[in-house]
Amino acid sequence: MSVNVLFSARPALWPVYEPLLNTGLADAGIKATIATDLPPDQVDYIVYAPNGGLLDFTPFTRAKAVLSLWAGVEKIASNDTLTVPLARMVDHGLTQGMTEWVVGHVLRYHLGMDQHITVQDGVWAPDPPPLATQRSVCVLGLGALGQAAAQALAALNFNVTGWSRLAKDVSGVTCLHGPDGLRVALSQAELLVLLLPETAATENTLNADTLALLPKGARILNPGRGPLIDDEALLRALSTGHVGHATLDVFRTEPLPPDHPYWAHPNVTVTPHIASETRPDTAAQVICENIQRSEAGRPLLHLVDRALGY
Ligand code: NDP
Repeated sequence: MSVNVLFSARPALWPVYEPLLNTGLADAGIKATIATDLPPDQVDYIVYAPNGGLLDFTPFTRAKAVLSLWAGVEKIASNDTLTVPLARMVDHGLTQGMTEWVVGHVLRYHLGMDQHITVQDGVWAPDPPPLATQRSVCVLGLGALGQAAAQALAALNFNVTGWSRLAKDVSGVTCLHGPDGLRVALSQAELLVLLLPETAATENTLNADTLALLPKGARILNPGRGPLIDDEALLRALSTGHVGHATLDVFRTEPLPPDHPYWAHPNVTVTPHIASETRPDTAAQVICENIQRSEAGRPLLHLVDRALGY
């Protein structure tokens, strides 16, 4: 079998992915022409990321699927010109990276690291942190990334609650769902991690009302997406001390404008959307596996439910 694959992502990624995809497809017994520019009516698969600039899928009359390199598909899920299946990225390397970012920042808060890193004033004031068993962490979103992060935290003995749309069973994690579940989850969340997708239903999941449910002084980590948080409400909660600190990796506008109040806020840490990224070695395997599946008439992995937006 032979297929034509259009690579539509950040141009700098092309030399990285081209040999990986070529080798992966050849190993799968598929003769592939892979290029950054192909006649649209000759394209069988589109390897896609929003930074490739592709907006109109209408000319790709022969395409069988769009295979996203990104886990978050909010920029393409509602594109009406897309009429073929859309698969998103679930990649071992991406998941591992996110787990490391979440665990690292949770431990920063849990151990009170800032106190010792930034305050070296000659005052000997021992104040040991509690054990993880005495600390409640809540992860909103129990998908590929949220589950892995929650389980890594549970393995460190944190008291972990997770929340999702549908009921879930994740070992070591107290799983809640639905609106009532969210209220319970937030009311216990000393440390709160947002790993929800950006959809119409998740916008402003953290707003004035839901922030008020958090224990006083709660810390928030957002490696999910910027619109999950009502920024004005968070800034107000930070100014009153109801929220103690926030570490934010994603924003409604990226790059975060230099004059945005988050940059200057003493109780906000901004990281520039680096919580995790797709790792070419492992992601190329996922793309090749999906092309192989499609050619064999088998269901694609990680299909997006476009009505739900994730
Ligand atoms: P998944 O699609 O695997 O998981 C999404 C989770 O969110 C699921 O548990 C889902 O519930 C839950 N969810 C969705 N909608 C709702 C809702 N309305 N109410 C309650 N729960 C809801 O996504 P991933 O775990 O792979 O990724 C999560 C997000 O992380 C991505 O969408 C992306 O925005 C972000 N991301 C950020 C990166 C960064 O570097 N900062 C890197 C990669 C991803 P259910 O299980 O019931 O369906």
